[in-house]
Amino acid sequence: SARHHQDAHQRYVEGQDERHLRQLTLIHDLRDAVSNNELWMAYQPKIATHNGQVCQFEALMRWRHPSLGFVPPDEFISLAERSGNIRQLSQWMLEHVTAQLHEWQQQGHRVSVAVNLSASDVTDAELPRQLAELLARYHLAADQVSLEVTESAVMQDIEAATRTLNELSRLGMSIAIDDYGTGYSSLAQIKRLPVNELKIDKSFVLKIDTQEDDLTIVRSTIEMGHSLGLSIVAEGVENAASASLLNRLGCDYLQGYWFAKPMPSDDVLSWLDAVEVF
Ligand code: C2E
Ligand code: CA
Ligand code: CA
Ligand code: CA
Repeated sequence: SARHHQDAHQRYVEGQDERHLRQLTLIHDLRDAVSNNELWMAYQPKIATHNGQVCQFEALMRWRHPSLGFVPPDEFISLAERSGNIRQLSQWMLEHVTAQLHEWQQQGHRVSVAVNLSASDVTDAELPRQLAELLARYHLAADQVSLEVTESAVMQDIEAATRTLNELSRLGMSIAIDDYGTGYSSLAQIKRLPVNELKIDKSFVLKIDTQEDDLTIVRSTIEMGHSLGLSIVAEGVENAASASLLNRLGCDYLQGYWFAKPMPSDDVLSWLDAVEVF
């Protein structure tokens, strides 16, 4: 059994080494991902419950590593945050998404997109000016770009985040609290921020059609959010039962695989054309 224990320990150490090596490789190679054209954005629609229309797309970052293949954003975004490389990725993303909106606009489609910001973006005093410049350069209205920030990102430095978000809000951009329900902040704290929307985390939504507890949490979040004048979005809507349940609860917007998975930019306009037939 001592032998058995030793083997298990050895496997554990090797597993740790492997994970560590992968992390170091990703952190290193992420620095060249932009210049090597390895990043792109995928777009997932958000549906308004009152009329079933697409109101917006969320832009989600994608990375194909030359030898390791597809790396999930949950993995590389947090590595970029820890290694101090996130600002470079965010810059690329904002530039790329606004250029894309401009291109769609020239093709006759006024699309609106939500982008995800990380903690270092929301405390960056330069961000509002930078976004204003991008809007001007690409002839976009402020309501075509909205911002998703997690409660934990905001709470890391609530004062700096409040300043940045107030400026962005003054520019006319709408702000959503992402992953709502997974952090420790209260609605009272969130209410002091210039927030327009709550995005209920998919962990509460995925099994809402079968889990009574999740249903209760989502129902009371919608009620409290509405009483504070916030719009409510549910992410992770995977089936028709969940969609109609959320509709009945008064959820304002729905997002999830039931409607569409995140798609490459090339598919967005044809997808929009196809759904308009309904
Ligand atoms: P998020 O902002 O909470 O995005 C929602 C995630 O849920 C996305 O994963 C999306 O593809 C996935 N999803 C959407 N519908 C469903 C569904 O019906 N079922 C299930 N199971 N999942 C669904 P993704 O694209 O892997 O992104 C993961 C996270 O990475 C995002 O979570 C966000 O926190 C971060 N991220 C992605 N792109 C960016 C970015 O450009 N900047 C920053 N800072 N973070 C990003
Ligand atoms: Ca998001
Ligand atoms: Ca989420
Ligand atoms: Ca997230």
